[in-house]
Amino acid sequence: MKAAPAPPAPPAAKPRKKAKNVAHVWVVAAEIVVTPKVASIADFRESFKTEADQRVDALDVYCRGCRRPYDEVKSDPCAAKIDNTHLIGGDQTTRAKRKAPVPPPSARIVPGGTINRQGLDAYVSGVSRPKS
Ligand SMILES: [Zn+2]
Repeated sequence: MKAAPAPPAPPAAKPRKKAKNVAHVWVVAAEIVVTPKVASIADFRESFKTEADQRVDALDVYCRGCRRPYDEVKSDPCAAKIDNTHLIGGDQTTRAKRKAPVPPPSARIVPGGTINRQGLDAYVSGVSRPKS
């Protein structure tokens, strides 16, 4: 009788994922003085060629991904390549709750009746009807 086949070799360890590139992609908002001819080309094609060695005024230097200025985040990894929570005002789960307005001390809260907001009764009573 033959010996049982050898058990399959354990799966080889997965190669580690390559480190994610979290570097910023720097772009410059620039202002370039052009001739009227170049201006018409730039207006039509939304691009144009500059003269060689032309000095360009840099209005703003920022990252194309996270839209943050160079001087603020040059030493940090790009937040847009990690996640985009900074673009929506941070983590939405930890955002502070909306504050309810505090009534003045002399106010007295009077509960109102129920309002039917659906169906024909709502239309007839003017809740869902456009103002005429
Ligand atoms: Zn960035």
